[in-house]
Amino acid sequence: MQIPHLKPLFTALKRIASINFLVVAVFACCFCFDACAQNEPFNLLMKRIAGDLQTGINDQELANSVSSNLKLLNSDGSWKDIDYARLQYDPLRRIKDMAGAYVRPSSKFYGHADLHGAIVISLQNWLDRNPKNKNWWFNDIFYPQAIGQILILMRDGKQQLPNQLGEALIQRMSRKLKGGDGANTSDEALHFLYRACLTKNKATLDSAATYLFEPISIIDGKGGVQVDGSYYQHGKQQAIASYGKVFVENSVNAAYYLRGTDYALSETKFDILLNYLRQTFIKTIRGTFYDFNVRGRGISRKDSLESRISGMIKKIETLDPSHSTFWQAAAKRVSQQQDAAYGVTKSHHHYWKSGYTLNVRPAYTFSVQSTSIRTLKTERGNNENILGKFLATGATNIQRTGSEYANLMPLWEWDKIPGTTSRDYATDSGATIAKEWGIAGTTTFVGGVSDDTYGVSAYHLNDDGVEAKKAWFFFDNEVVCLGAGISSSSPQHITTTVNQTWLRGKVLFDTAKTAKWIVHDSIAYIFPKGGTLTIGEGSQTGSWYRINHFQSKDAIVAKVFKAAIDHGIRSQNASYAYIVAPAAGIKNIQKYKTDMIAILKNTEEIQAVKHTALNMLQVVFYKAGTLSADNLYVKVDKPCVVYIKSLNTAQAILYIADPTQENRNIKVEVKLSKNENNRLLNCDLPVGPLAGSTASFKISQH
Ligand code: CA
Repeated sequence: MQIPHLKPLFTALKRIASINFLVVAVFACCFCFDACAQNEPFNLLMKRIAGDLQTGINDQELANSVSSNLKLLNSDGSWKDIDYARLQYDPLRRIKDMAGAYVRPSSKFYGHADLHGAIVISLQNWLDRNPKNKNWWFNDIFYPQAIGQILILMRDGKQQLPNQLGEALIQRMSRKLKGGDGANTSDEALHFLYRACLTKNKATLDSAATYLFEPISIIDGKGGVQVDGSYYQHGKQQAIASYGKVFVENSVNAAYYLRGTDYALSETKFDILLNYLRQTFIKTIRGTFYDFNVRGRGISRKDSLESRISGMIKKIETLDPSHSTFWQAAAKRVSQQQDAAYGVTKSHHHYWKSGYTLNVRPAYTFSVQSTSIRTLKTERGNNENILGKFLATGATNIQRTGSEYANLMPLWEWDKIPGTTSRDYATDSGATIAKEWGIAGTTTFVGGVSDDTYGVSAYHLNDDGVEAKKAWFFFDNEVVCLGAGISSSSPQHITTTVNQTWLRGKVLFDTAKTAKWIVHDSIAYIFPKGGTLTIGEGSQTGSWYRINHFQSKDAIVAKVFKAAIDHGIRSQNASYAYIVAPAAGIKNIQKYKTDMIAILKNTEEIQAVKHTALNMLQVVFYKAGTLSADNLYVKVDKPCVVYIKSLNTAQAILYIADPTQENRNIKVEVKLSKNENNRLLNCDLPVGPLAGSTASFKISQH
């Protein structure tokens, strides 16, 4: 076999009689390959980056965007319709589109001389203006990244940019990088990588690779991946798919670009990244939409629940071929080629560092976000997420198709966030966050217990003059939501919101006001103890600007389903109980057996639920105490959450966690049937960064 590009060399060699010369020639050739290989990383990386920038582009859409950009371009390279005093993404996004079209062989603008002229003049205008945004992120991340991408794309052009312009722009990208800032660090390192390739500078590449991969580590309590698999940014604030999304996108891109080179991601770091992606990040996406609890203040941006990660999943699959079945199923869900249940297996996880619980079943996703004195609530920042005061106070995200809350946020009544118990204010001002960048919670008892499939989470709410003990008991077909000790001296009604989602189809219930059940959008809500309900299915009005001052002021009106339990004014020691059965639907509601779920206790000291069919007991002890009910006896000497699996069998197991994260040892006395003796379990608990996580103990038979 003859390698085509060596053909001329062999032809030449045929004319050479001397064997000695041949040896010298082959030797010289090897030397050349070696010398070429040293330059290779830059060319290879540039090719991979350019290829990535051209992936997932629709030629027609790109051409339309470029055509309209060209029409609005002034002769000095500025744009007629851009307010340069409030500059954000434009015009660099427009120039990037133009550069993409110019070098794209399938584009009608490919190699177009006029387009080249427009790119040069608009880049020169950008350079001369040297715009600065009040928000550092644009200056230090977005602008240099976009310039780098434009310059890399243009290297494939028929005609290059003028040298002086190219060099001045590379100079403009140059920054200092200090690291230690999680997703922001990897974001900054990405434009270092672009600059390294453009300048073929090894020192820049060295530092780009170092900082790109720096955030891929487990950093207890600081911005980054936590020991429980959650993610922090801006202090101890859950940021799984807000800054955590930036982190995974940059890390996956870096690993993908640098694969197979001397700069490739180490196996240890790759395992951390992969574990975060598989066990946490991807599970927060239902169908193609994120859980609203994981998007941080981004919840107030249009389309922010859309995952848009098809491209990233393809790259991960290249890097992680051993899990290709898993990634292909994820790709089919996010691209909506398959439904939201496709390839989903059941899992339950409590993230004790972040106060977040994620319960996933093929039929639904149910998550809860709470805040303790150890963590910060979802932030308001830069006038984004203005009304999110109650977001992290027991908010429950209930998804079946995934789209239940997508772009609903401008219409939300923000003091009725699903799952929360709060004052019902007359206006938005009650839900306004007073201070930017995160406010700490007020209580210590916030946590949960989990065996990775089932679990129970609890939250001592004491916020905005409202106190309550809230708990969620997770099984297969239902989640039991209990509240007790609900007290407030405020003048408003106190309500617990069962859900607030897009209205889809009819809202069915038995009798208004004292309904025993409601069915909406194939989700059943069952109220075994009744209660005063308000059920809404009317129009709500709002705008994105209402919650985020960077967004549109256009009014939006649409119909919303809303169900809430009214605890009245100045309620003392009120309670609620409802069961969410996400796939039950109206056909099953009548035969739905609430008797297989026994709510054994719902007080401000103890909340306990037994699931007869699953043979499980789940108990929240807000203080040392004893549960004695239904022939079951459990006594604890300290506050804790307890879950006993396989009740009345020789394999009974006790799972226990301490939501206060303060105790090293808890003594548990159990008796699971009439004829047994009490058994004492001396439970040593995880400490340090693992404090709050679950420990398990066999309940031995006598
Ligand atoms: Ca209200």
